[in-house]
Amino acid sequence: MYFDQHLHSRFSQDGTPPIANIAAAALRRGMTAITITDHFDLCDAEIGYQFYLDHESARREEFERVREQYAGQLEIGWGLEIGHPYQMPDVAARFLESRSFDFILGSVHFLRDGSDIYLIDYDSSATIDRVFTEYFTDMLDLIDFGGFDSLAHLDYPLRVMRGKIGEPTVLPWRHLIEPILEKVVEKGIALELNTRGFMDWKKRQEPEDWVLRRYYELGGRLITIGSDAHVLDAVGVAVPDAAQKAYELGFREVAYYRNRQPTLYPLQPVCIRTAEAARAI
Ligand SMILES: [Zn+2]
Ligand SMILES: [Zn+2]
Repeated sequence: MYFDQHLHSRFSQDGTPPIANIAAAALRRGMTAITITDHFDLCDAEIGYQFYLDHESARREEFERVREQYAGQLEIGWGLEIGHPYQMPDVAARFLESRSFDFILGSVHFLRDGSDIYLIDYDSSATIDRVFTEYFTDMLDLIDFGGFDSLAHLDYPLRVMRGKIGEPTVLPWRHLIEPILEKVVEKGIALELNTRGFMDWKKRQEPEDWVLRRYYELGGRLITIGSDAHVLDAVGVAVPDAAQKAYELGFREVAYYRNRQPTLYPLQPVCIRTAEAARAI
C-alpha cells in the first residue's frame, strides 16, 4: 500500500495540475490513497494565503467531484500545507478553527524578514549558516504553534544549495535539529519523508538517514510519505523508495491521516521480500 500525502494542485499558486489529473496519475503509479495539500503560507498576503482563499470554494468543488469519481479506486484526502503560521498567528488560528481537514503539513518556506528560502543568494558559508540557523529556530516555533500533523521537508533549504555547499547534509546543524526531533516526538507530530530529493541533486529522501535514525531513537514512530509534486510527472514518484528506506531504518508502519487522525499501515519490505522469494526458489 502506497500513500502520497504531499501533492499540490492548480489551487497552489505554484502548482499546475487539476485534481482529476493528479488522481489519474496517482492511480497509474500504484498509489492506494493520496492527500491534496495545497499551500497556505502565512507571510505576505499576496503570494501567501490570499491565493488559497480566492480559490477555496473552487478547490472544494473540484475535490468533491473527483473524490466521488474515484470512490472505490483511490482514496483522496482533503489536506493543506500550512507555512509558518507563527508569523501571523491570529490569521492562522482563525483559519484553522473555521475549517476541517483530513491532514495538514507544517512547513517553513519564508524566513521572518520575508525572504523566500528558494530565492536567497547563498553566496557565502556565513549566509548558509545564518539561513539554516534561522530556519531551524523558526521550525521550533512552528512546532510550538502546532495545528498540523506532519513536519514537512525538514532539510528544505538544501534543495537550492547545489554547488553552494559541499555535501547535501544538515549535519553541521545537528545541535539545532535535535530539539526539533525531541519536540516532534513529544507532541505526537509525524515526520515526513519527502521523496522530491530523489529527483534532485541529493538523490535521496528528505531528510537524510541520520535524521530519521535519530527520530526513531528518540521514540518517533509516526511517519508520512509525500512526493511534494507540483507537476503531474512527479505524482507518486519514489514513494516506494521512501517506504523501503523507512523499513531499512527500522520503521514498520506508515501513517495515513483522515480527519486529522493517523491510521497505521504496515510498510512492505520490497527488496527483502524479493530476496526471500529468490532463496525459496
Ligand atoms: Zn513545502
Ligand atoms: Zn509542498
